Amino acid sequence: MNNDICKWYPVCPMKWFFENGKLDGKWVNDYCFSDWTECVRYEMEESGKYHPDNMLPDGKIDERLQY
Ligand code: SF4
Repeated sequence: MNNDICKWYPVCPMKWFFENGKLDGKWVNDYCFSDWTECVRYEMEESGKYHPDNMLPDGKIDERLQY
């Protein structure tokens, strides 16, 4: 655990989905604002692997997440 915000947060689709009422706050609280080292999106971002915008921090796809 740490108290920093994930460095990807400003550009992460999870931020947009959260701020537009499409994503439960537990995701950003549990990952983006705390345990981002556990985030699958973070890992894939760091290693340059493709991941869809509707993939949750735990790696599951949420088809309801749409722009
Ligand atoms: S979803 Fe993952 S990569 Fe995106 S801001 Fe949150 S912790 Fe970082």
